[in-house]
Amino acid sequence: MQWLADADGARRFVGAARADRQTVGLVPTMGALHAGHAALLHALRPQVDRLVLSIFVNPTQFGPHEDFARYPRDLAGDQAWAEAAHVDAVFHPATSVMYPVSPSTFVQVEGIDRVLEGAVRPTHFRGVATVVAKLLNIWTPDIIALGQKDAQQVVVVRRMMQELLWPTRLVVVPTVRERDGLAMSSRNVYLSPAEREAAVVLHRSLDAAERAVRGGVRDAVRLGAELAAAIQSEPLAQLDYAVVVDAATLAPVAQVAGRVLVAVAARFGATRLLDNCCLEVEGEAVRTVLP
Ligand code: AMP
Repeated sequence: MQWLADADGARRFVGAARADRQTVGLVPTMGALHAGHAALLHALRPQVDRLVLSIFVNPTQFGPHEDFARYPRDLAGDQAWAEAAHVDAVFHPATSVMYPVSPSTFVQVEGIDRVLEGAVRPTHFRGVATVVAKLLNIWTPDIIALGQKDAQQVVVVRRMMQELLWPTRLVVVPTVRERDGLAMSSRNVYLSPAEREAAVVLHRSLDAAERAVRGGVRDAVRLGAELAAAIQSEPLAQLDYAVVVDAATLAPVAQVAGRVLVAVAARFGATRLLDNCCLEVEGEAVRTVLP
């Protein structure tokens, strides 16, 4: 497994792979890896010849009062996860590699970057789209993998790739959960034991919402209100949103029909956690799908 730290090294790696007619897959992360990230690596491993993991805590996707400085970092742990997943190269660039000058060029997916997460974090998706565009420029991968947990990120990156004419295929990997259902996240380490216990309310409430849809509920506003009430019944949860939106446009829907994303965000102490489920509803039939 090679460690690469700059764009030239990455381009030489890709050039050698292409010369051997090999395909390249990329899993972009911010490190502090856990089994959720590993699922992305395992999903791509059989699909590509050369598997690349990038680890970069991207400053432009953090707001001024967010946790950039204290975001968890664990390169030794990341190396162990990467080796176990048979990664061929780890790309761990310095900020000066990804942002060689004070940035004035950004990629922005207007509209869908301002709802849900974007309503509370107005520059977050501009940072995400910009760094993913840079990684695509450097690595020109055949496939990238993103996790369902960050469903809005999937929608934004998919739209960016479509509009910027990237031929790269996007693979979405289902959310990996702890035993009690909490979605794995690098930020879970911030939770106190009581908050950690309380945080399971997100998954429980989403499960109840999915059961309601399977039971015939089609009123999206009522579903969202019940979901919100279920989360608010947990005293340690401070709800940001609990919504039912169109899975492609992220616009609110009145009826649960077609592909809908049921998305929640709440704070537990200072830690903001997300979760979602994505459903395809056609008449009576309800299927769990990926965003
Ligand atoms: P991050 O390091 O948090 O930026 O995440 C890197 C990638 O891993 C993103 O595509 C995330 O959606 C994905 N990811 C993070 N947690 C999980 C999880 N629990 N299950 C599946 N994918 C995840």
